[in-house]
Amino acid sequence: MSRVYNFSAGPAVLPEEVLKEAAEEMLDYHGCGMSVMEMSHRSKAFETIIKEAEADLRELMNIPDNYKVLFLQGGASQQFAMIPMNLMKNKVADYIVTGQWAKKAYQEAQIYGKANKIASSEDKTFSYIPDCSDLPISEDADYVYICENNTIYGTKFKTLPNTKGKPLVADVSSCFLSEPVDVIKYGLLYGGVQKNIGPAGVVIVIIREDLITEDTLPGTPTMLKYKIHADAESLYNTPPAYGIYICGKVFKWLKKMGGLEVMKQRNEEKAKILYDFLDQSEMFKGTVRKEDRSLMNVPFITGNDELDAKFVKEAKAAGLENLKGHRSVGGMRASIYNAMPKEGVEALVAFMKKFEEENK
Ligand SMILES: *Cc1c(COP(=O)(O)O)cnc(C)c1O
Repeated sequence: MSRVYNFSAGPAVLPEEVLKEAAEEMLDYHGCGMSVMEMSHRSKAFETIIKEAEADLRELMNIPDNYKVLFLQGGASQQFAMIPMNLMKNKVADYIVTGQWAKKAYQEAQIYGKANKIASSEDKTFSYIPDCSDLPISEDADYVYICENNTIYGTKFKTLPNTKGKPLVADVSSCFLSEPVDVIKYGLLYGGVQKNIGPAGVVIVIIREDLITEDTLPGTPTMLKYKIHADAESLYNTPPAYGIYICGKVFKWLKKMGGLEVMKQRNEEKAKILYDFLDQSEMFKGTVRKEDRSLMNVPFITGNDELDAKFVKEAKAAGLENLKGHRSVGGMRASIYNAMPKEGVEALVAFMKKFEEENK
């Protein structure tokens, strides 16, 4: 067996320990004589799995009691519709568009009501986060929406926008559990887990209870109502059970590592290794304004498409995989999520140095 350093933006690297444990439990989960994939979601064993997953997540993120944790399906993209369907009481919402994912959410919301783009960084290929300290928040906005970490462009909100009292809704898919968060600053935060937590197919929604109501837009399907899932404790229908089980293991791994404060330090340390190299390299350049740099997704370019392609190809041969940048930015992107060890980033930088030397 040989594992590569996987820099994919998602689905992405998971902790090896977790994968090994899951492998050991594959045929016989805790004496049940079956795998988690094969058991009833109403069984005692699964009930314990989902309850513990929620409790561990609550502990890690310090989630207050007046917030519900929902394990849902449909990926992050389904939330683009589910959020307006459930939250647009006045049919007005303000969107801050800092990348493709925020833009998609903004476009989807237009189907359901008046979605206002109140700020954007599209003028400079989403390479920065706009000043959000005093935006023209709509008087009757039901919420203000952000994508907190922009997976494709490698930017991150270091300060949350001033929403002037409106609930903040955030897509945290690619920064979920990468550092501590102050949950009370949000009305709703959510993320697809395949970036930093688990297997694709699960999306976790953390929502303040007063935002969960019967009063959804007409025509909202039952499966897309937060209240249905909240009342049923994420067991309204068959949940993505195996995915939730793996998420639960990752939560335990994070607790064992020391929690989110420790993850933040580790992530800062890893990102610094790469950014410091980029800042002094003659060949490789970061594409993001320094103060807005993400700890999770690091895009960089040489400025020469052929050289970029050569780099990606040779890196792969050296066991450094999935470094090709998103088609809208080009160049390269290294995603260095929680489960990427520091050694992986060091190996990448060592390879970049060697490549720069050889291709001067
Ligand atoms: C990947 C990603 C999405 C889309 O996730 P799906 O689960 O594929 O729908 C949305 N938002 C962000 C920030 C992402 O990184």
